[in-house]
Amino acid sequence: MSGQYDGVYAVYDERFPVARKPHQCGACGEAIAAGHRYARVGAILDGHASTIVRCLRCQTIHEHLRTLGDHDVWPDERLDCGEEYRGHWGHDPPEHIAALAFATPDEVQAACAKPLEAQLGALTREITALLPPSWCPTRGAK
Ligand SMILES: [Zn+2]
Repeated sequence: MSGQYDGVYAVYDERFPVARKPHQCGACGEAIAAGHRYARVGAILDGHASTIVRCLRCQTIHEHLRTLGDHDVWPDERLDCGEEYRGHWGHDPPEHIAALAFATPDEVQAACAKPLEAQLGALTREITALLPPSWCPTRGAK
């Protein structure tokens, strides 16, 4: 569950595009259908650039794993270290994470995509609030 790297990512560019064509998740190997949101990470580690594609289910699990430990371990990008969650962390994963293992891609899209869009919406509002009114034609212009 925890891939340990000696190096530190020089770049870790994580984006959440909507698939224009089908992709394959680099972690679980399942298809990411066109129209589904997914995670695309452009990373540079020790001078090697790589692109990792993850379905939202694996992405959610990945993000959860990052919060475990003392932030000194980074989960394997493909979640394939072969360790059992329970064996490594001494307890079972939280229910919402465990439930992901049995969810279909469509269910994951429905569950993950909406909060993500809501998050993005909130972020956009936050950023908009920080900008001077003159930058935002829809705000403050009279
Ligand atoms: Zn996956």
